[in-house]
Amino acid sequence: MDDAAAPATKPAIDKQALLAKYRAERDKRLRADGNDQYLELKGGRFAHYLQDPYTPFVERAPKTDHVTFAFVGGGFAGLVTGARLAEAGVKDVRIIEKGGDFGGTWYWNRYPGAQCDTASMIYMPLLEETGHRPSEKYAHAPEILEQCQRIGRQFGLYDNALFHTEITGLEWDEAQSRWIISTNRGDRFTASFIGLGTGPLHVPKLPGIPGIEDFQGHSFHTSRWDYDYTGGDPKGALMEKLADKRVAIIGTGATSVQAVPHLARACGQLYVFQRTPSSIDVRANAPIDPEWFSSIATPGWQQRWLENFTQNQAGGGADEDLVMDGWTDLSRRIRAKIGDLPPEKRTPRDMLLAFEDSDFEKMEEIRARVDAIVQDHDTAQALKAWYRQLCKRPCFHDAYLQAFNTPTVRLIDTDGQGVEKITEKGVVVAGQEYEVDCIIYASGFEVGTEYKRRAGFDVTGRDGLKLSEAWADGMRTKHGTHVHGFPNLFIVQPTQGANLISNVPHNLTEAGRTIGMIVRHALDQGARQVEVTQQAQDDWVSLLLTGPGRMMMGSADCTPGYYNNEGQDPGPAAKYNVGYPAGAAAYFKYLDAWRSSGSFEGLEFR
Ligand code: NDP
Repeated sequence: MDDAAAPATKPAIDKQALLAKYRAERDKRLRADGNDQYLELKGGRFAHYLQDPYTPFVERAPKTDHVTFAFVGGGFAGLVTGARLAEAGVKDVRIIEKGGDFGGTWYWNRYPGAQCDTASMIYMPLLEETGHRPSEKYAHAPEILEQCQRIGRQFGLYDNALFHTEITGLEWDEAQSRWIISTNRGDRFTASFIGLGTGPLHVPKLPGIPGIEDFQGHSFHTSRWDYDYTGGDPKGALMEKLADKRVAIIGTGATSVQAVPHLARACGQLYVFQRTPSSIDVRANAPIDPEWFSSIATPGWQQRWLENFTQNQAGGGADEDLVMDGWTDLSRRIRAKIGDLPPEKRTPRDMLLAFEDSDFEKMEEIRARVDAIVQDHDTAQALKAWYRQLCKRPCFHDAYLQAFNTPTVRLIDTDGQGVEKITEKGVVVAGQEYEVDCIIYASGFEVGTEYKRRAGFDVTGRDGLKLSEAWADGMRTKHGTHVHGFPNLFIVQPTQGANLISNVPHNLTEAGRTIGMIVRHALDQGARQVEVTQQAQDDWVSLLLTGPGRMMMGSADCTPGYYNNEGQDPGPAAKYNVGYPAGAAAYFKYLDAWRSSGSFEGLEFR
C-alpha cells in the first residue's frame, strides 16, 4: 500500500527496541556514588546558599511558655492542620518555620515561572473556606504563596508563629504529658500535642561537580533566587539585569523547565546544561472564568473536586472528570487499555503490559512533540526523554521546548554524564569550557538522605526512644500519622496513608481534619495522652504490606533520579514506603468512616 492510501494510524511501536534504548540510557547514568554525588549545604562551605534572600531576620526573645499544639513546618501541612485545629476550637497553635513566612516550598521557590503542575482547583488548600477563586487552571507561585498567607491570617496562625526558627530538639516528657521543644533561637517551650509537616523536598542540594568551589562568578540555587542580581520578580517581570550576562543553568528537572523560558527571554546568552531530559507534555493553562467559577462553587465544591480527581486518578475512574489534566489523562489511558483486554486476560501481568503499552504510546507522543517544536535537529534529539513517563517527574510546559529556538539559548547535553568540571570562569563539558558570568543550580533537593539529616533534628519519644531508631528498619505508623511510643505526636504526610503523590495537599487536608477531630476529642475527654497501640500499628503495617508494593516510581529499571534512590537499592526499609492497598480514593473513604465513628479505633485516650 502506498503512503497516500495508508490509513491514518500511527506506526507500530517496536517495544523491544524501545526497552533496549531505555535500558542503555539508564545504564549510561548509573553511578556508584548514588546520593553521595550531591553536596550537603548545611554547615559546610556552601552554607551561604541556604540564606533567605526574601525576608529580613528579626531578633526576638526566646519562648519559654506552653501551647496546646506546636507544629513543625509552616507549609501546607502546618497551615491546614492549624486551620482545622482552629475550626475545632483549638486556638493556641504555634507553627515553627525555618522560612521568614508561611508557604513552605512556595515560600522558598520564587524562581521566575514557578507554577504548580496540579490544577489549582484541587491543589490550593482551603479555597472554599477562604473564598479564593484561583486565577488560572495551573496557578503561579505568587498566588499560591498568597493563599498560604491568607490561610495564616484567616485562622489566626500568625499570632503565635515563630519564623526563621529551626527545631533542634523534640522530647516527650512523660511526667507532664507534654513535648519539650527546643530551637536554634534559644526557645524551650512545651506543647500538649505536636505535629510534624516538614515536607519531602526542602533541603536544597548542589551537584558535587569537581571544581564547583573555584567558580569566581555569581551563583545561586533556584530555591533562593537572587532577584537583586537578575532583576525581574517572581511574577515574571523581565530580568533586565541579565541582558548583558552569560548564564548557565545546571539541571533540567521540573524547576529548570519552568525557569528556562524566562531566562531565555532575558539572558544575553543562556547555556542549559542537561544530564537527563525531562518529558515535556502539553500544559494548556487557561484563566479561570469568574462566571463559570461562581456556577460551580456551590457548598462543598472543593471536596467534590478533590474526591473526583482522586477517583479518576487513583480510584478506578468516575463518570465525570472535573479536573481534566495530565494526571487524569494518564490514568484514563491506562484504564482504556486495560478495558480493551478480554475478561480472561485481565490478569495482573497483562494489566501491567497494558499499562506499559499506554506508556510507550504516551512517550512516543512526547518525543514527537520535541521534533514538532524544536527546530535544530541535534538539539531536538538531545531533548527526548528515553524512559517511562513516571520514572521521573513528568513535566508539562508550552514554552520550554520553544525556548531552544531562541538564538541566544544553547542546550549543552552531557550525554547522561553530567557536567565534567567547573572552573574559575565557567562550566566544562566534554573538554569544552563555556565561560559564564553566573551559574544557576537547578539541581533539586535532598530526598534519599537520612530523615534526621534533612529535618535537622530527631524526635525523642517515651523512654528516650528516638524516631530514627523506631524506624531504623522502616517506617511504622498507623495511617502514616500515629507512631507507637510517641504519644500526642501527629505526622502529616502521604506515606502509609493515601500515598496520593499527584495531589499531595489532598493527603494533608484529610490528615489535618483528622487531627483536629482527635485533639478535640482528647480535650473534651480530659485525656492527657493519645497514642496508637502497638497492636493497631502492627495491624496497619501488615495491611499495607498486602498491597502491590512500590510501583514504577521506585523501579530499578528506571533511569536514576530521586524517584528510585538514584538507581541504587533502597534497602529493605523502602518496602514500607507504600500506601493503602485499595488505593487513595478508598483510603479517604475509610479514613472518613474511621474518624466519623468517634471511637478512633486503635488509638488510646488516657
Ligand atoms: P530535580 O531533582 O528534579 O532536578 C535536578 C536536575 O539537576 C536534574 O535534571 C539532574 O539531572 C540535574 N543534575 C544533577 N546533577 C547534575 C550534574 N552533575 N550535571 C548536570 N546536571 C545535573 O530538581 P527540581 O528542582 O527540578 O525539582 C524537584 C521536584 O520539585 C520535582 O521533581 C517536583 O516534584 C517538584 N517541583 C514541582 C513543580 C511543579 O509542580 N510544577 C515545579 C518544580 C519542582 P538527572 O535527571 O540526570 O539527575
